[in-house]
Amino acid sequence: MSELYIYNSLTRQKEKFEPLHAPNVGLYVCGPTVYNDVHLGNVRTFSSFDMIYRYLVFCGYKVRYVRNITDAGHLTNERGEGVNRMESQAKLESLEPMEIVQKYTVGFHEICQLFNMKSPTIEPTATGHIIEQIEMIETLIEKGFAYEKNGSVYFDVKAFNEKYTYGELSGRNIDELIAGYRDLDGQDEKKNSIDFALWKAATPVHIMQWRSPWGMGFPGWHLECSVMSTKYLGKEFDIHGGGMDLKFPHHECEIAQNVGACGTAPVRYWMHTNMLNFNGQKMSKSLGNSILPIEFITGNHPLLDKAYSPMVLRFLFLQSHYSSELDINIKGLQDAEKGLKRLMEVRSALKNLKASGSELSATDTQIAEACAECKTNMDDDFNTAKTIACLFELSTIVNSIKDGNIKAEQVQPASVALLEKTFEDYLIDVFGLKPLEENNNSKLDDAMQVLIDIRNEAKLKKDFATSDKIRNELLEKGIQLKDEKDGSVSYSIN
Ligand code: AMP
Ligand code: ZN
Repeated sequence: MSELYIYNSLTRQKEKFEPLHAPNVGLYVCGPTVYNDVHLGNVRTFSSFDMIYRYLVFCGYKVRYVRNITDAGHLTNERGEGVNRMESQAKLESLEPMEIVQKYTVGFHEICQLFNMKSPTIEPTATGHIIEQIEMIETLIEKGFAYEKNGSVYFDVKAFNEKYTYGELSGRNIDELIAGYRDLDGQDEKKNSIDFALWKAATPVHIMQWRSPWGMGFPGWHLECSVMSTKYLGKEFDIHGGGMDLKFPHHECEIAQNVGACGTAPVRYWMHTNMLNFNGQKMSKSLGNSILPIEFITGNHPLLDKAYSPMVLRFLFLQSHYSSELDINIKGLQDAEKGLKRLMEVRSALKNLKASGSELSATDTQIAEACAECKTNMDDDFNTAKTIACLFELSTIVNSIKDGNIKAEQVQPASVALLEKTFEDYLIDVFGLKPLEENNNSKLDDAMQVLIDIRNEAKLKKDFATSDKIRNELLEKGIQLKDEKDGSVSYSIN
């Protein structure tokens, strides 16, 4: 097992990663609120955790990766007021709220696939866990940390803070919070402005509502993550992640709910990924500066000079540490495209690289050191930026061997095998990158269909010279046409 160090946002320091029940690891990541399309900022957060998940698996851990779908409870106002986002979007699109949920959940999964993200091992939904949420609220009321008012239930932050501490994760104290909220606050049914909703009474206009001991209503947003993480990972588990903007109030409230209900701090390592910015401002739908994945891959956005592969974005993200802010701009994208292409070319070149050295040379040592450094960097809080720098260093060596500037006799075959393994491990397995051509599959399909159609027409006209020529010449290039039973033609690349 590796010596992995993780920056823990709770303790604000890098700590040695020691799972509670190694080799098992519990990882919970806050998933999307499925009421609109995810934008590239959301993609950054989810692909950062995809890399983290991939690396934990690479290190030999058996990871239970839970990422929820927020399909209820997320209101337009994060303090637990306002309108349910799914319902307001349903009105806009003249759909049922659950049609909105389905539409954007499917859309989210398509985006995850496009960016080559692995599926979580459990993907629970808030609406599938209403009973468990009601149970946690009952426990919090019993323990004196929650109260009911007019069919809604609120978390009593002051009562909680008398026994435990509220605000540790985000570094806030409740007196400041109360002072900050006072001006904004109207008359409401909460004891204190910082109290947050665990359950909201529903008026008849609400479509998404459930029966509870307090009447018809729906759960508060923060509650679902406490409930689902506890249910699938236990009262205490290893890693909880989300974007930086979820630290407060969402994660702070999650901690309070868990500690209040279970008596223990739920999470050993809190991880927060940083934001994707656009011209120095956080990319967000409400600010009107978001780029959608579809705009990115078609190039149909004023910021973009052309269409880009999803892999270029993934690579751009990996070139920065997950905890640094990142600004998206054309120069960065162009550089990322060039860089990714270069690394993938080196990966391909390695397959034919000649090496016949029999004694350890300075080049062999250099290769061994840079390969080992990939791991050292990843073990240092998932430093993908430095790992990529190592891969570039290795690329320079590979190109020198390829060009004959370093002689084949100066490199041992074992070093080439190590290089191949390192590129495969990091570029493909851990970073989840694919060669750029693979994303052109649909274009290849189109081109192949043109050839297949020409061959079919030739066969119909009994022009077997042409149909055979197409088949044979493709075969020479390693592409085999197969006549299927239903009359269609498929192809495979050898
Ligand atoms: P939401 O569906 O709004 O809850 O967002 C899903 C995830 O995307 C959360 O973890 C957010 O922190 C994250 N997120 C939102 N905007 C950005 C951004 N501009 N850059 C990176 N992550 C973001
Ligand atoms: Zn959450």
